[in-house]
Amino acid sequence: MFINQTYIEGLLAAAKAAPSANIDSILDRAERMEGLKHQDIAALLMCEDEGQLARIFDIAGKIKAHIYGNRIVMFAPLYVSDHCVNSCTYCSYNCRHQFNRKKLTMDEVREEVRLLEKMGHKRIALEAGEHDGLCPMDYILECMRTIYDMKFENGAIRRINVNIAATTVENYRALKEAEIGTYILFQETYHRPAYEKVHPTGPKGNYEYHLTAFDRAMEGGIDDVGAGVLFGLADPYFEVLGLMLHNEHLEERFGVGFHTISVPRLCKAEGMSLTDFPNLVDDRTFEKIVAIIRLAVPFTGMILSTREDDAMRQKLLKIGISQLSAGSSTEVGGYALREAHGDTGSSQFEVSDHRSALDIIRALLDEGYIPSFCTACYRSGRTGDRFMSLAKSGQIKNVCLPNALMTLCEYAADYGDDAFKASAHAAVQRMLPEIASDKVRAKTEACIAQIQADGRRDFYL
Ligand code: SF4
Ligand code: SF4
Repeated sequence: MFINQTYIEGLLAAAKAAPSANIDSILDRAERMEGLKHQDIAALLMCEDEGQLARIFDIAGKIKAHIYGNRIVMFAPLYVSDHCVNSCTYCSYNCRHQFNRKKLTMDEVREEVRLLEKMGHKRIALEAGEHDGLCPMDYILECMRTIYDMKFENGAIRRINVNIAATTVENYRALKEAEIGTYILFQETYHRPAYEKVHPTGPKGNYEYHLTAFDRAMEGGIDDVGAGVLFGLADPYFEVLGLMLHNEHLEERFGVGFHTISVPRLCKAEGMSLTDFPNLVDDRTFEKIVAIIRLAVPFTGMILSTREDDAMRQKLLKIGISQLSAGSSTEVGGYALREAHGDTGSSQFEVSDHRSALDIIRALLDEGYIPSFCTACYRSGRTGDRFMSLAKSGQIKNVCLPNALMTLCEYAADYGDDAFKASAHAAVQRMLPEIASDKVRAKTEACIAQIQADGRRDFYL
């Protein structure tokens, strides 16, 4: 098995016993954006020298700026069912928790999608609890067909990432055929004893089946997989090494590692108390972890959700995060409930950023970022190793920026008020000269003119 508890603990102990030994040479390599192996990561995680830590943050900021520029890809979750047979102790949807559970009908899915589209979203993460009886794969596939079939005046949901329980190769193949974007599955914790403790009953308690889900997903043809751990369940440094070893395993076996890494921190949820979790991660450690992951896997997108407040989001955007959720509801049918009654409160976990999608997107623009609604790679077949080779050669930037500018113009035209349109226009004019190729810049300008003058939509490179 590619995760070995004794091996990881040994690496951390050795790095702790000899801190600072090779840090400068590791950071020189990180600065060249070559990525780092898990042995290097262990050394960086144990680094406490203020000067070296400052250099870690500095390099993370440089990598972020060089590879991702000021673009931030936007998405929102769509919870379709909270039926669940598992009893994850950190989740309010666990089967021991009594509440009125829901699974959306297709009409309700359409209503949620209508409201997500009204917020401007084009990319969603479809989420469901694990319940083969009440929420089988056929239901997930029906949801995907329903969503992809919906067309609005302002476009459509153009890509569905799916976050559902570990399953079979056959089911992953069916998700691939249904045009899944990224298959997302958080390991929650790589530390087996902690994993078994927080998953006391249900199929999710099978550590190895969960850990090998991405292998089966890739065998089923899904080549974009998104990983994550729930920071706070075990030693956070152990978790980072677990992530890195998992990524290396997929690279060795399939030629491509994680497409994205999510970095959720444990939050308060209905029916649990944070005092039961002794490994909560403080802000400084969390920032250090995000920066080190940025150094380790420069070309892997990093995702932050509305679990974090605006102040933390601002810090992490500078050192690693490339995708954000906005206007999120973590409740089944939550967008319709919010529209009718305001926030209702029976969500999977408590969110910290309660601003509307438009307010978050407006704030990003004001801070100098380019909110992007791009979904181009998935639709152009740039997935898996094809995507990674373009990313590693630096060529992906040639399409990311034009796509970001075109989708921002669409968003401003369809959802922005006059002030937002003016800010977006200024940002686009500021960024257009950054497109290196004259030909691509001219094409982007022509598409933007058509978006603004003719109401045309959905241009992408
Ligand atoms: Fe169910 Fe997922 Fe919550 Fe666990 S984390 S109880 S599997 S919904
Ligand atoms: Fe992401 Fe590809 Fe769009 Fe760039 S062009 S933002 S990598 S989907």
